[in-house]
Amino acid sequence: MTTILWFRQDLRTDDNPALLVAAARGPVIPVYLWAPEDEGEWPYGGASRWWLHHALAALETRLAALGSRLVVRTGRAVSALPKLLKETGATRVVAARRYEPAAAAVEAELAERLGPAFERVDSSLLHVPESIRTGTGLPYQVYTPFAKNCRMQAKPPRPQRAPSSLEAPPTWPRSEPLDALGLLPTIDWAAGMRAAWTPGETGALAALRAFVAGPVARYALERDLPAVVGTSRLSPHLHFGEISPRRAWYAVEDALRKADNAEFSRNAEKYLAELLWREFGHHVLVHFPHTPTSPLRAEYAAFPWRRDKATLRAWQRGVTGYPLVDAGMRELWATGWMHNRVRMVVASFLVKHLLHSWLDGARWFWDTLVDADLANNTLGWQWAGGCGADAAPYFRIFNPVLQGEKFDTDGAYVRRWVPEIARLPNDALNAPWKAPSSALARAGVTLGVTYPQPIVAHDEARERALAALAEVSLAKGARS
Ligand SMILES: Cc1cc2nc3c(=O)[nH]c(=O)nc-3n(C[C@H](O)[C@H](O)[C@H](O)COP(=O)(O)OP(=O)(O)OC[C@H]3O[C@@H](n4cnc5c(N)ncnc54)[C@H](O)[C@@H]3O)c2cc1C
Repeated sequence: MTTILWFRQDLRTDDNPALLVAAARGPVIPVYLWAPEDEGEWPYGGASRWWLHHALAALETRLAALGSRLVVRTGRAVSALPKLLKETGATRVVAARRYEPAAAAVEAELAERLGPAFERVDSSLLHVPESIRTGTGLPYQVYTPFAKNCRMQAKPPRPQRAPSSLEAPPTWPRSEPLDALGLLPTIDWAAGMRAAWTPGETGALAALRAFVAGPVARYALERDLPAVVGTSRLSPHLHFGEISPRRAWYAVEDALRKADNAEFSRNAEKYLAELLWREFGHHVLVHFPHTPTSPLRAEYAAFPWRRDKATLRAWQRGVTGYPLVDAGMRELWATGWMHNRVRMVVASFLVKHLLHSWLDGARWFWDTLVDADLANNTLGWQWAGGCGADAAPYFRIFNPVLQGEKFDTDGAYVRRWVPEIARLPNDALNAPWKAPSSALARAGVTLGVTYPQPIVAHDEARERALAALAEVSLAKGARS
């Protein structure tokens, strides 16, 4: 019985339950469908498309090592998969479930059309989102009790290795060449991404090994320092399913057991807690599928956001005059990734200092992040905007100068990404406009010429944000 293994966001052979289910039945036809129309309002952005191209190339190589192939087709799943079943005589389609609303709707349509010939497997989360409920049976909106509940559940199954080979079908269906999908940019802007990343499961497993061998032991502290490689940098690999969360979870938990050391445990536990933020993001997305475009806290729909193209553009390009914000936005543009601490700072700056909607920020991240993930991105942006699950209170406004001084103490991060102010002394680096003119001259900085003046003054922006919040609170008060 030949099975079509429909790869979605599980682009790996290691610990891939859908692959194991398919392989157990006999010949397997691995398939990837390129169908931006199936992604609803969130088709892949530029950086994700670059990653996807390389992830698929890596998957082709892995499958070839198992004696198999990857059949690539363009076209919506609801028509392409029934066609492929007919064409190949395969009797089933097996796929790993996705949780984004548009992807889930496609799966529901397929389930209706194909009946029991379409089988879905949960494999990209540690816990099925529907299995975690409050005492009253409701979904969680706060992380801490959600995470506690996850830790009380039965442990996720241990990861399973890839089989040593996959049985080939009697004949292979036609495949399109990967290049025909046009995922790579026509003007090559991806040099920084190539230098920073190795897409594919081999790169993912290497990143996990490197993390467990070093940074995990210092994670609790160093995860907040953007100049240090203190985190796992697994987010794009997890997003594209090049590594399973179970593989990451057990690598860290096993190291924790082996070390039998309180300090190591504290650090490793902090990492496991971050993996549960990912679970939380998916839990919120599944139960509140409107949140990618509307705030979870409905009163924020009335927030008086500004629509000012010039300040949005300055933020996108990293020329706001706030060095930590600019460094983050330039790191994002160059590498397709930004450190989590800096994501929080730039998001807060856009939403609170500039009063742009969190959705403007979410859309820019969507296009530029290699780890753009509807669940985590929505969670992160609504957190910054104060309008989502477990969100930062709106009145808590990050001060980008203090954040830089605290988390980039020696200025290494800012100097790397904002080289035009690299020669400023540390005490002037995060607020060049306060530096004496002699220090500016010595560093070769002319504000407004070689580096911008701040596009907004922190104290004024803070007052303006609080006034806007008061409008929302008043509106809420009037309704309740
Ligand atoms: C405004 C904003 C937008 C974000 N957008 C995304 C996004 O599109 N995709 C994405 O994967 N993450 C997003 N994050 C979360 C976080 O910044 C990244 O997951 C993290 O920086 C990835 O680096 P890492 O793999 O080295 O993380 P590590 O610190 O090594 O963490 C391990 C894993 O845990 C998960 N994780 C860590 N922090 C979070 C978090 N706060 N929320 C959800 N999952 C988390 C990620 O899968 C990550 O790979 C966003 C955060 C903010 C504040």
